Amino acid sequence: MSRVAYVNGRYLPHAEARVHVEDRGYQFADGVYEVCEVREGHLVDERRHIERLARSLKELRIDAPMTPAALGVVMRETMRRNRVRDGLVYLQVTRGVARRDHGFPPPGTKPSVVVTARSTDRRKADRLAETGIMVVTVAENRWPRVDIKSVALLPNVLARQEALDRGAKEAWFVDADGLVTEGASANAWIVTQDGAIVTRSANSGILKGITRTVTLEVTKSPAKRVEERAFSVAEAIAAREAFQTSATLTVMPVVEIDGKKIGDGRPGPVARALRARFHETAEIAS
Ligand code: PLP
Repeated sequence: MSRVAYVNGRYLPHAEARVHVEDRGYQFADGVYEVCEVREGHLVDERRHIERLARSLKELRIDAPMTPAALGVVMRETMRRNRVRDGLVYLQVTRGVARRDHGFPPPGTKPSVVVTARSTDRRKADRLAETGIMVVTVAENRWPRVDIKSVALLPNVLARQEALDRGAKEAWFVDADGLVTEGASANAWIVTQDGAIVTRSANSGILKGITRTVTLEVTKSPAKRVEERAFSVAEAIAAREAFQTSATLTVMPVVEIDGKKIGDGRPGPVARALRARFHETAEIAS
């Protein structure tokens, strides 16, 4: 079955799905995006993703291209046309098409909207979670506004490739103080030897992941201690468990960092339990 993409009001076969050469997303990475999980035919945490998209657009002073309800319709139609039951929806909005010039284009320039959807193999992700993933650390080199989900992802691309080159699955950025910020496309977590669940505060250095927000809700129980604070690479390596969160792989255990085993080198009970319970707490849209 050939895939179909939504591009500025039209549903087109991928082979014909194009944006203009002077689209500012293409020329300046002047745009934002969201990736939303689809599970059993339903969007997961649609409301939060659309709210974060609106925030990213506002921070960059890009006009909202359509209402949240209209975006929802386009996302569902793109899922339907691609017959996605389990998978991902990708949504991108750029500042639109205009003659190349760094300053903003004339008022009234329409933002460009692209939506794609693809199926993923849930069993494959679950199998990966059974073994856990390896992570390498790389020096943080991104701009300070990583709270905006911008399509300018070159440092993330290079970090991920470095991870792959070193035989790992993900790279975690480490700031000048030796503290982990986040992964190339995931938020980083540890469980300390005394049982505290730790993830960096969303005040600085990270994208406030939707999966992170939901996972924090899942951890809410009197028996659990949760700390939103930065942790060092040494603390992560000495931790009982490590894991990361993202819409693409939800809660994914991390069993090795820079070649050093975390705990006994196998996914830990906290990460496993959070992964198992994640979708009970996530909002499943109709
Ligand atoms: N941090 C970065 C840099 C990301 O790119 C992503 C997801 O793509 C995340 C964190 C996780 O965010 P979410 O849980 O909303 O997918």
